[in-house]
Amino acid sequence: MCSQNGCELHMFLFPFMAHGHMIPIIDMAKLFASRGVKITIVTTPLNSISISKSLHNSNSLIHLLPLKLPSVEAGLPDACENADSLPSLHLLPKFFAATTLLQDQLEHALLQYRPHCILADMFFPWTNDVAAKIGIPRLIFQGTSCFSHCALEFIRIHEPHKRVLSDTEHFLIPYLPGDIKLTKMQLPALDPENIENEFSKFIAKVDESVSCCYGVVVNSFYELEAEYADCYRDVLGRKMWLIGPLSLCNTETQEIIHRGRESAIDEDECLKWLDSQKLNSVVYVCFGSLAKFNSVQLKEIAIGLEASGQNFIWVIRKGKEEEEAEERNWLPEGYEQRMEGKGLIIRGWAPQLLILDHPAVGGFVTHCGWNSTLEGVAAGVPMVTWPVGAEQFYNEKLVTEVLKIGVAVGVQKWVKIVGDFVGREAVEKAIRRVMEEEEGEEMRNRARKFAEKAKKAVGEDGSSYLTVDALIVELKSLAF
Ligand code: UDP
Repeated sequence: MCSQNGCELHMFLFPFMAHGHMIPIIDMAKLFASRGVKITIVTTPLNSISISKSLHNSNSLIHLLPLKLPSVEAGLPDACENADSLPSLHLLPKFFAATTLLQDQLEHALLQYRPHCILADMFFPWTNDVAAKIGIPRLIFQGTSCFSHCALEFIRIHEPHKRVLSDTEHFLIPYLPGDIKLTKMQLPALDPENIENEFSKFIAKVDESVSCCYGVVVNSFYELEAEYADCYRDVLGRKMWLIGPLSLCNTETQEIIHRGRESAIDEDECLKWLDSQKLNSVVYVCFGSLAKFNSVQLKEIAIGLEASGQNFIWVIRKGKEEEEAEERNWLPEGYEQRMEGKGLIIRGWAPQLLILDHPAVGGFVTHCGWNSTLEGVAAGVPMVTWPVGAEQFYNEKLVTEVLKIGVAVGVQKWVKIVGDFVGREAVEKAIRRVMEEEEGEEMRNRARKFAEKAKKAVGEDGSSYLTVDALIVELKSLAF
């Protein structure tokens, strides 16, 4: 089909079914559609419903294509369509297995709709083969920074962690600019010695698919991590496009409010509360869509927050044990009464972008998921880094040692989902450093400069803006 400005490009976008993966791809759909690209988001029926809510009144070039996830066949509960809502994380390998069963349906849809390319999540390595069969390029969406990609790859290839004598001894990540050091305890479970075999095999497939796909689309911007983007491209030899921060494509309040899940707080109430606070006086505490803490840790955070003397918004996601024992009073006695007006507790989903962008917010305690990290950068707020799992320890290093816009709370150990223990004193100290001390002010100034650069990057003729153009031109040249 041809439009006035030449042929209309049609892309299939296929996000992994978890909010941290769907949110940036929905943003990306809006971004490409705003440049005249027709978009089909491939997902499952229940996710389609939630995505269509968060698309709000977006561009009419975006369509949804629901495929039925064979959950029961894969040994999952019926209608289990989102990794965030799995009853137990032990089911994650089964969830990955269920997604591979979508192969025939996807192939059928590609033959029916004939898009010009498919941009699929890194967790769908099998889409390389499907795309090859149909004869279209497969792009990968890898939802983290170039810094983390490089760190991960250099560790995987050179195995520096195998040359240390203990789990706590630091090793240098070879070839990674910046002399970055980690301990074995902070490594994601990518080491086949440490993890279940099935998962390591799966990760190997993901790695292989990255090296033989058409290219990688990254939610980051060149000015944030130029050295690592160059390293990723030149040393690791990956073809890639930096097109972020994707969150900045949400400009209307309604879009910002409806991003992700339904908020557990009325947005007006949240804004009213923030409006009543002084400039840079509020610390926002949120650990993303997956990480959970037990009662003991939640209590430490509560006490640490109170001791820091800062006003706060704290988003609480409880572990299974706490959900089951809802009545258990893990908050210190009289806490909520004492914190009235000083602290706002949100139990469930918070409108994160709305909060981060408010001038009252002066610090962000984050688990260093890449979306949250980049949203913090784009909002220009210094961070307290509290990595939990995945590639979050790498993101922490980027924030604290490379960009120097945050301080580490001091987590020592990579865990899957439930956080390592951090005491109240460490919570208080890290928050005070960011919110009160001179070094916090310096970090805030640096963070603001990155936020300006981020806005410039996505603005007309900015680096990310031009990269989107270049990608569209390249895909068209392949297609027509
Ligand atoms: N998010 C949100 N409200 C919440 C929790 C998370 O809006 O209460 C959004 C957040 O803005 C980010 C995403 O969910 O876009 C979380 O992604 P991230 O990569 O930070 O972490 P993950 O959830 O994948 O661990």
